[in-house]
Amino acid sequence: MSDRPFSERSARIGAAAPFRMVFDFARKSGYQERRLEPGVLDFTFGDPHEMPLPDYVEALREAVVPRDELWFAYKFSLVEAQEAAAQSLRRVVDLPWTADRIRMTTGGFGAITLALKSVADPGDEVVYSLPPWFLYEALALEAGLVPVKVRVDAQTFDLDLDAIAAAITDRTRLVIVNSPNNPTGRIYPESTLRALADLLETASARHGRRIYLISDEPYNRIVFDGARFRSPAEFYPFTLLCYSYGKTLLAPGQRLGYLALPPQMPDAVQLIDAVESVQVAAGWLFPNAVMQYAVPRLEALSLDLAHLQAKRDRMAGALRELGYDVATPEGTFYLFPRSPLADDEAFVEMLAREGVLVMPGRLFETPGYFRICLTATMETIEASLPRFATVLAQTRSS
Ligand code: PMP
Repeated sequence: MSDRPFSERSARIGAAAPFRMVFDFARKSGYQERRLEPGVLDFTFGDPHEMPLPDYVEALREAVVPRDELWFAYKFSLVEAQEAAAQSLRRVVDLPWTADRIRMTTGGFGAITLALKSVADPGDEVVYSLPPWFLYEALALEAGLVPVKVRVDAQTFDLDLDAIAAAITDRTRLVIVNSPNNPTGRIYPESTLRALADLLETASARHGRRIYLISDEPYNRIVFDGARFRSPAEFYPFTLLCYSYGKTLLAPGQRLGYLALPPQMPDAVQLIDAVESVQVAAGWLFPNAVMQYAVPRLEALSLDLAHLQAKRDRMAGALRELGYDVATPEGTFYLFPRSPLADDEAFVEMLAREGVLVMPGRLFETPGYFRICLTATMETIEASLPRFATVLAQTRSS
């Protein structure tokens, strides 16, 4: 008789280093209290730091008022929400997306989980690039998959296609691409995405098994300097596009997103059925009815992109002037500077002592860097600059 009250699966997830660190950081480190202390400047998670958009609140207020007796009945993915999502996605990613190939989900987490479980079986390998979003590993392990990690190009933060090609085996079923990228802010160029599509096509043929691509793109509307975002879905028909409303609307706690299959994907009708089966069986992973009713109105809203860009410019510019080594992100709300100390955790600890909270690169399996989240206010950014200067000076004198 086993004396452990938990499954092998949960043990594997719990033992995954990036997951353990993020989970402990968020739940056990005292961070939740620390970030609310007076004078503490919080640049950690992508949480809102200001009151929600009034139109966002209004959309939910309207959606909560029942119009029929089935208003709060069980709801699969609502067609009205799928239609609104398709219409909006057609503007962002230049393909004729249709509602029948979209399923509403509980945020990006839900969409990625559905994508993983709908096309891959336990033991299959999933390839992704480091630095990653720190929960890919946990989601892959929960689905019984084997994470295979490669590094992005250290100079450009672009995908290292040779490394991806070398990582593919006959067990590879999925490759995850995240652009605009959390944490680097990189938007992968068309040339990279075209070459990646060729590579996956060739590898699929060689192994006699289709390799699917998960395009994790919750930041596809958060791009700067008028840059054009290109989705892998434009170049590789076997792409499952995962979207979350949590970024554009800065309301990640409301758990709303979708999974979309591109119009040129063969067998999409069978795959979308598979998605929906998993969606029910994995625990009714549909967003709640009220959120779905609100989608048509929510699609018209966005955080203030110009203001976010101004925050990016101020923070990146000032840090560079102080002597930090930081690339200018093309999208997302993150900066990923080099840590002035090789030991990024020690550096993050020094910043925390000055009341500035950021995330160490180790959480992204990329020691020697740290992440700053720009959902903090401009006032917080201004207040942090002298402290970044102080800590940089401390590193030089220590
Ligand atoms: N992918 C990436 C790259 C993310 O940054 C996040 C959220 N931080 C997610 C997926 C999950 O999004 P959500 O919490 O809105 O489901």
